[in-house]
Amino acid sequence: MYITIDGQKLEFKKGETILQVALRSGIDIPHFCYHPALSIAGNCRICLVEVDNIPKLVIACATLAEKDMVVKTNTPKVIEAQNAIMEFILINHPLDCPICDEAGECKLQDYAYKYGKGYSRFDEEKVIKDKRVPIGPNVLFDAERCISCSRCIRYCDEISKSHELTFVNRGEKVTIETFPGKQLDNPYSMNVIEICPVGALTSRHFRFRARVWDMSFTYSICPGCARGCNTIIGVRNNEILRIEPRENLEVNQYWLCDYGRLNTYKFVNDVNLRIDSPKVLIEETSSEEKKQVDVDWKAAIEKAVSLLKEEDNNYLFIGSALSTLEDNYTLKKFANNILGINEIYYIPHIDESFGDDILRKSDKTPNSKGVELLGFKKISNKIIKELKEGKYNFLFILNEDISTLQNFSEFQPNIAKSIQLLSTINNYSNEADVLLPLSTYAEINGTYINFQNRIQRLRPAVTTIEQERLPGEFSLSRLDKFGAHNDRWSQGKKFNSRPGWKIIKQIAKEFNIEFEFENSEDVFIELCNSITILKGLDYDKIGNQGYKIK
Ligand code: SF4
Ligand code: SF4
Repeated sequence: MYITIDGQKLEFKKGETILQVALRSGIDIPHFCYHPALSIAGNCRICLVEVDNIPKLVIACATLAEKDMVVKTNTPKVIEAQNAIMEFILINHPLDCPICDEAGECKLQDYAYKYGKGYSRFDEEKVIKDKRVPIGPNVLFDAERCISCSRCIRYCDEISKSHELTFVNRGEKVTIETFPGKQLDNPYSMNVIEICPVGALTSRHFRFRARVWDMSFTYSICPGCARGCNTIIGVRNNEILRIEPRENLEVNQYWLCDYGRLNTYKFVNDVNLRIDSPKVLIEETSSEEKKQVDVDWKAAIEKAVSLLKEEDNNYLFIGSALSTLEDNYTLKKFANNILGINEIYYIPHIDESFGDDILRKSDKTPNSKGVELLGFKKISNKIIKELKEGKYNFLFILNEDISTLQNFSEFQPNIAKSIQLLSTINNYSNEADVLLPLSTYAEINGTYINFQNRIQRLRPAVTTIEQERLPGEFSLSRLDKFGAHNDRWSQGKKFNSRPGWKIIKQIAKEFNIEFEFENSEDVFIELCNSITILKGLDYDKIGNQGYKIK
């Protein structure tokens, strides 16, 4: 079945609306209240179009496409209607774009340029409504900016199913409110910030932190749980300011949970938590007490190698489901090929109370499928008992906190030596003989495999002192649409950390073994060639939407 829109003959499926067919075919019909994941409300009226043999204009979001229907989206009648709707919506709008967080990425602002007349005939007093209303722990509401599209209400009814919001009053007094005694407080509350097409619902965490045209944006993956939601990391002056959802219908649709959005970036910026220099443990001659001191990378690697070359080392290697395939593969290669260690363990992070039937998984690691594919074993009670009994005298830890192990404080493992590759300090990091600063997920290229066996890509959003950037790779910038590239990599605090694969390659080199990879993609291609179901994959094939492994 075919429909014609602006002279283009387009195929459609029964049940599709004119707007859906148009958007799918790259024809832009303006819309505020329509959202592909929500029910149709048809209340903003900006999507009016002309249909042959129908005397009045119809709204494209609620009119089903029909066989041989002829639709026009830019006739004088349609343009006049769009002008009128924009004038109506803007009558009471406060026009406070200069102090609005949404400015630069606001549908109302864009449509005012594209479909408005550029001036207002309204010179009466505007209706005054509440501003800066904290309607939940994470969201602020500005009633004057609201255009009553009802997207946020439908979201709470249909997606988070938490039913906190409703319209109250009528006409120009209409506004949204939470039900008495309720707040907009659910594990997915912050998605209303993006679905609100204007600046009426904004983030209490991002508020006034930056203008969006001063930021760079990078496609990434949330490391908060095994779902691996697709994200966009927003950065200014080398500091992450916000995480937004990125559409992936197979993984997270259009959403993120508030935990993932808020808890996966603050540690990246935190100078008090991050390990910013390699450290080695030395004995103070005066007190005979041991303490960690800062050294350069060369001295730290030499110390690590001298410890690794000592006789009678009995190793326990701990990889990490929080780290990429690339880092874990290199750890495995080092342990297997250089030290002859075949067993590598990882620590599961399961929290049954965290999982739900929307997005969140009770496995709070992004890559447990990945480490299992590499053959790593879950650390067992037997291993914990052996640690307690002192069976191992050398712990090699990649991105893990063994103080999270059950009953850690009771057993306090009696380990003679440890090398730890970590991004942030933890309860066991000050025991490390050599502590090597590891780049976070937001500073590296790499891959995770989510619970659906979908392999997905990380890209560096903030830069470290010694940054890897793959050829031709740039962070996205909203300014790109104006033809300018906004690259903020050179400003702001940079940490002295490195990706795990690179640190381990440097250690291997001191054993006169050269790992033949120069960048993370080389590591990835080598590891794929060693695992049958990954053979032939490269970063391009994974792309922006991930690649489902059979
Ligand atoms: S707050 Fe935003 S999403 Fe909610 S009704 Fe108003 S404009 Fe629409
Ligand atoms: S559901 Fe999991 S992956 Fe998605 S945003 Fe939340 S923590 Fe992150």
